[in-house]
Amino acid sequence: MANIVQYRNKCIGCGICYEMMPEIWRMSKKDGKATLLKAVLKKDVFVLPIVHSMIAEAKRVAHACPVKIIRVNEF
Ligand code: SF4
Repeated sequence: MANIVQYRNKCIGCGICYEMMPEIWRMSKKDGKATLLKAVLKKDVFVLPIVHSMIAEAKRVAHACPVKIIRVNEF
């Protein structure tokens, strides 16, 4: 079990997450920030459970985010 956490209000809209994993990220036309599809808002962060096979790529995305606002948590 794992999840992706995004501190969305700090997103600068670079689009890297969307380019790397378009199956779970979209760039918002409203505010230009990245939206984690189907994520749930918990306090100030968006959280999306992911399956085991997505963990490695999600970690690469987290590493590539220039402002380091994506985390991958494994349980
Ligand atoms: S990589 Fe980070 S800063 Fe860039 S759009 Fe995605 S969440 Fe925002």
